[in-house]
Amino acid sequence: MKEKTFWLETVEIPTPARQEFPERVDVAVIGAGFTGLSAARTLAKSGASVAVFDAQTIGWGASSRNGGMVLTGLKLPASTLIARYGKEVTARMYAASLESIDFVERLLREENIACDFARGGHLEVACKPKHFDDFRRSADETARHFNHQQRLIPRDQLQSEIGSAIYHGGLVDESSAGVNPARLVAGLASAAQRAGAAIFEHSHVNEIQREGAIGWKIATQHGTLRAQNVFVATSGYTSRVTPALQRKIIPIGSYIIVTEVLPEKLAAELSPRNRMIFDSKNYLYYYRLTPDRRMLFGGRAAFFPENTSTIRRSAEILRRGMLTVYPRLRDAKIEYVWGGTLDFAFDIMPHAGQLNGLHFSLGYAGHGVAMSAYLGDKIAQSILQAHNGNPSRNENPFAQIPFPNAPLGLYNGRPWFLPFAGAWYKVLDWLT
Ligand SMILES: Cc1cc2nc3c(=O)[nH]c(=O)nc-3n(C[C@H](O)[C@H](O)[C@H](O)COP(=O)(O)OP(=O)(O)OC[C@H]3O[C@@H](n4cnc5c(N)ncnc54)[C@H](O)[C@@H]3O)c2cc1C
Repeated sequence: MKEKTFWLETVEIPTPARQEFPERVDVAVIGAGFTGLSAARTLAKSGASVAVFDAQTIGWGASSRNGGMVLTGLKLPASTLIARYGKEVTARMYAASLESIDFVERLLREENIACDFARGGHLEVACKPKHFDDFRRSADETARHFNHQQRLIPRDQLQSEIGSAIYHGGLVDESSAGVNPARLVAGLASAAQRAGAAIFEHSHVNEIQREGAIGWKIATQHGTLRAQNVFVATSGYTSRVTPALQRKIIPIGSYIIVTEVLPEKLAAELSPRNRMIFDSKNYLYYYRLTPDRRMLFGGRAAFFPENTSTIRRSAEILRRGMLTVYPRLRDAKIEYVWGGTLDFAFDIMPHAGQLNGLHFSLGYAGHGVAMSAYLGDKIAQSILQAHNGNPSRNENPFAQIPFPNAPLGLYNGRPWFLPFAGAWYKVLDWLT
């Protein structure tokens, strides 16, 4: 079993073209994942000078490590969102989740990126009978408030969707898609560079300081530059370099195993419609077939961000989880295991806007493949509008919602409470 991201076996992410270190740019972007690269592409296409810095390499963060599920909706259910933000703002946020998938599809076409993008839909499966009742309510609300249709699958029809007998029904959304994320991030990096953005790998940003009324001084591993704007696109890897953002984001580990290539007949029995599948627990499992017919199975097996020990332990936990769903995979060899870090805000919402003058977009909570590219573009557009003297056209609903700090201020960026949160979610799954 390789401790390696399966997706990175399918594509060589090209090292960026060598560039002279700039003295000054219009926008410095920190983080070369979907968010940062999408922003860089939009900015450079409009003629802005852009430098993207990544402490590691292109796509090193969550963008090459995820499950490749391009999902509709947000992490929280519609009823919670409406109670919190009202119908109008929630409808705009939900619409953004649908637009984000259209945005990615359009971008792939425009930039000619081949990344196995396929609108095969997603299937959410109910772990308890009560969860299926919740699906019914959720499908009803989604149709009524957001004019978006989802389909309930009663338990006795579920075998047409999944080769597992443990669930109590399902909810299908045909608008979701699957993608090879490493190919997507490689394609985005090439598109951003073609548009004129410079990408600097192994370039940790160490310090960002205000300089004058409108500019910034940015100290990186390889030198210092000035930028009129800074866009922080560091997701679950947000650090002390941006302390105000770090205090608002909880880094949570998520882990994935991938089997050997499965026989065609078995794969078709396990997932007859090749959907992106996830279950209804808080401590959930998500799984799908890869384009070459392996089972990719992920979950929050350990809450702590990835390291060799959490990855090893997760491989075992996930394999046990996979066998409860699919006992027929008992003899399937696990060939890959890896982990990555998710970014949860305290309200479990994405946030994209400006904080202390820095532009940012993060808080995707495991729902970020399309949203990150979409919000990267949206924030880039707002930077361009401000630069051209046009006030923001307010197209981004995630800039309007409050971005909370930890309750009682009990968090300085070091998530001491993760073991308790993990235990709490397990209790919740047992109770609800
Ligand atoms: C295991 C896993 C499975 C997931 N599955 C799904 C899924 O199926 N569907 C879905 O929608 N979402 C999923 N997600 C979430 C999704 O991958 C992320 O929301 C998305 O990739 C975030 O992209 P990003 O560009 O904002 O951040 P990232 O891709 O994480 O990039 C952040 C980058 O910032 C860099 N960085 C940090 N600090 C600095 C610094 N000081 N200087 C320079 N560089 C810095 C890091 O090196 C990193 O490369 C998953 C995430 C994980 C970890």
